[in-house]
Amino acid sequence: MTRLVLVGPPGAGKGTQATALSEKLGIPHISTGDLFRKNIAEQTELGQQVKHILDSGGLVPDEITNQMLIARLELSDTADGFLLDGFPRNLGQAEVLATVLAESDQKLDAVVQLQVDEDVLVQRLLARGRSDDNEDVIRHRLHVYQSETAPLLDYYRDLLVTVDGVAEIDQVTDRILAALRDRT
Ligand code: AMP
Repeated sequence: MTRLVLVGPPGAGKGTQATALSEKLGIPHISTGDLFRKNIAEQTELGQQVKHILDSGGLVPDEITNQMLIARLELSDTADGFLLDGFPRNLGQAEVLATVLAESDQKLDAVVQLQVDEDVLVQRLLARGRSDDNEDVIRHRLHVYQSETAPLLDYYRDLLVTVDGVAEIDQVTDRILAALRDRT
């Protein structure tokens, strides 16, 4: 049973690593950013509500995000674990997650922090070219990470596994798997 959270600034490689880890560990990869982008692409009501927020690089309000995440966690494929990518992104979301898990006697096993220097992040994001990857929006997202999300590192200090995220993709995946093995 593996319940994991992946934390790191935009551009740290969370999505890429989450995809690889999800396959290796046999647990679903749940990305709130992907869920929002899917809703935007499909022009659902939720998508229309959040599009301008993703475009600006701000955070979607907690009520909306938490509700979407809780609905996703209720699907049966999460019974043996899950890997959260991009959630929680602030302390309020972390507390909601803890409460929801506690209601079914569950808790997180580990929180993986992907560490990457800021200049490498900006280079990677500019190269990625997603619609929210222009320079002003990138700076705003990095700022939001520092002010809203970075406090989670302390909140999760007892569960935290920190991995250097600057290396080839496979090598970073191996580092994460090794670090998780060392913990247990
Ligand atoms: P990501 O794909 O994780 O980089 O997320 C892309 C965008 O989706 C973010 O810049 C936010 O606008 C929004 N988003 C994703 N996850 C969350 C979350 N947990 N809370 C609030 N907004 C989020």
